[in-house]
Parts: sequence; structure tokens; C-alpha cells
Amino acid sequence: MTARPPIPAPPYQGGCLCGQVRWTLTARPRAINACHCQACKKQSGATNILALIAPAEAFTATGATHTYRKTAESGRQLDVQRCAHCGTRVFHHNLANAALVFIAAGTLDDTSWAIPTSHIWVECISPGVVMQDDAIKVVGQPEDRAMLMDAFTKVYG
Ligand SMILES: [Zn+2]
Ligand SMILES: [Zn+2]
Repeated sequence: MTARPPIPAPPYQGGCLCGQVRWTLTARPRAINACHCQACKKQSGATNILALIAPAEAFTATGATHTYRKTAESGRQLDVQRCAHCGTRVFHHNLANAALVFIAAGTLDDTSWAIPTSHIWVECISPGVVMQDDAIKVVGQPEDRAMLMDAFTKVYG
């Protein structure tokens, strides 16, 4: 079984590399999702993007960001926010679902509890990336994001 420390109580705080962008999340995440698609590899410069999916109303950020509007092959549009100074990819919103924010888990001040409960685009996974035995694995984009939230609830209650 995957060793999982308990998720601490909110609020959670994080920020970019240079410290100009800081954020606070006052609600528990609804999902912790790793995306292994090619676009996430390029955007992050890493092998995948691990994101906290959370209610947008509980999220605030300060500091100047640069917005990059990304259009997926499916036509979905995301507004990706990077620190205007150091370029760290901090969070994004999906234009079709403004109720949620996707926060790059690596920008948490304390990343110790950020362990995926779902993996998507697993057919693109980079060699060497570990998938937890209790996390769901989805080929391609899930049709319904509720699947990712259900996976989180199943693990953490
Ligand atoms: Zn910065
Ligand atoms: Zn992706």
C-alpha cells in the first residue's frame, strides 16, 4: 500500500520560486491529480504536472502573473498563470469551469502530503514515474472530472 501522511487541515499556502506570487487555499482540495500528457510535460519542463483541484472561491493569489491561454486539441481552453518575474507555472483555470482552480502542487510550501490519487493520460507516462497502487489510472482525458474527485474521496474520505 502507498504510504500516505494525512492531509493537513486548511489553509494551505504556496508561491513561486522568486516569492512574488503567493497563494492561499482555505478549503481542502477535491482531488490530487497527475497529468502525464505531452502538453503538461512541455508546460512544466518536468515529466508531468501534479495539481491540487480545488474550489476557486477558496483560492486567492497575489503578485503579478503572466497569462498564457492554452487551447487543447479538444478545444478546451485553459488560462495558465505564471509568475511574471520568475516564470514558475503556479495555477490555471479551465474557462469552461470557473468553479475550480488547478494549483501546481510543487508550489506548495509544504509538499509532503501532495500524493496523487489519480493519474491521467497514463499512456504518455514517462519511464520512471511511480503510480500509487490506490490511485486511479485513466487513459486520456477523463470524460467527467467527478471521477478524479471520487478517487480522492475514496482514499482520504
Ligand atoms: Zn516568481
Ligand atoms: Zn496534461
